[in-house]
Amino acid sequence: MSTPDILFLGFCSRAEIDRSGARWNVLGLSSILQTYLLPSHLAPFIALSVNIQTLRGTGILHILDQDGVKGGEITIRGQHVEGAELAEEPPDTVTMHPGEAWTPVFMPNGDGIAVPKPGKFSVIQVKDGLEIPIGGFQVIHIEAPPLTADRIAAIRSDPRAAKSMRIQLGCKRCPATYRVYFGLDRDPKLEAEGWRWSPEIQDTEFKCTCGVGTVELRYVKSGLVALLGRPSEQTDLNIVPLYERSALQQVRDKFHDLLNSEPQEERIQRFITDNPILLHMFSAVNLIPKPSIGTKFAADFAILDARGRLGPDRDRASKHQTLETRRAPGAGVDPCI
Ligand SMILES: [Zn+2]
Repeated sequence: MSTPDILFLGFCSRAEIDRSGARWNVLGLSSILQTYLLPSHLAPFIALSVNIQTLRGTGILHILDQDGVKGGEITIRGQHVEGAELAEEPPDTVTMHPGEAWTPVFMPNGDGIAVPKPGKFSVIQVKDGLEIPIGGFQVIHIEAPPLTADRIAAIRSDPRAAKSMRIQLGCKRCPATYRVYFGLDRDPKLEAEGWRWSPEIQDTEFKCTCGVGTVELRYVKSGLVALLGRPSEQTDLNIVPLYERSALQQVRDKFHDLLNSEPQEERIQRFITDNPILLHMFSAVNLIPKPSIGTKFAADFAILDARGRLGPDRDRASKHQTLETRRAPGAGVDPCI
C-alpha cells in the first residue's frame, strides 16, 4: 500500500509567504471554480499540502477529467537548501521552512493547468507505478448575460474597460491555431490578420492538426461576450483598452468648458449620454438614460451596480434611486477622471 506525499487542496487567486517563511497569506481558496471562458487556466495558484518528510525527489501529479482522460500534469520538486545558499529564488519556486510533516504549499500555476470544458476533475499522484487519488476540483461554466444597449453604455463608462478581447487557441505539439476576437466594434485590421469575429463563428469546435487538442468553441464565444468590459485576471486573454489617456483628458476638458458656459441642463444630459465615462465612479453594470419615474417624471440616468442595486446612493438603495446632474452656478466642477 502506497501513501501519497502530496494532497491537492484546490486553487486560489493569491498566495504569498511572509518573510518568516512559515506563514501564508491566501485569498480565494476553493476547489470549485466558476468561469465564463473555457479553456481557462483556472487560477493563478495551486494549493497543495506536502509531506516534506516523505517526498523524495520529484512528485508527479496528473489531472484527469470525468472520463479518465489526462488533461494536465504538475511536477513538484522538493529540494533542501541552507538559508544562505538561496540568494535568488528561481521562478515557480517556493521557499519555506521545513515543518514537522504535512505543510501547506501554494505553487504558481503559470502555464500549467488549463481545462477545456466544465465538469469534475480528479487529481492523482503517480508514485511507484501506482495512481493514488489525492483530491479533485469542479469547473462550472457561467452563461454570459446578454450584451444589451444598457450594458454597452455601462462598459463605456469604465476607464479600465476593454475595447476588444482576443484569445488564441493552440496546441503545444503542433502549430495549429484558432484566433477569435470580440469587442464593442468590429476591427477589419484584426480580421485581415486572421482573427475571427466571434458572433460569426460557425465551427462548433477547434481540432488541431495532430489530433491532441479539441476545444468546444461555444465557451469561447460566450466567454468573450461576458468578459468584455471587465477587469480580468484571465491571463489567456489579450485585452485592448477602450480609452487612451489622452482621450480621457479630452473628455474632461470639454466637460469642464461646457460646465463653465452656463449651459441648459439638456446639453449636460446629452454630453454625459455621449460620454458615459463621466459616470465611471459608480461602477455601473447597466446605465439607463432618462428612465421614467411613474408616468410624469424622468430621471437623468439610472445606474445599476454589480450587486443589482440602483445607484449612486448605495446606503439608501431603493427602486427609485437615480442620479441627477446638478450644476452649482459659477462653480468649477471637476469631473474627476
Ligand atoms: Zn496538435
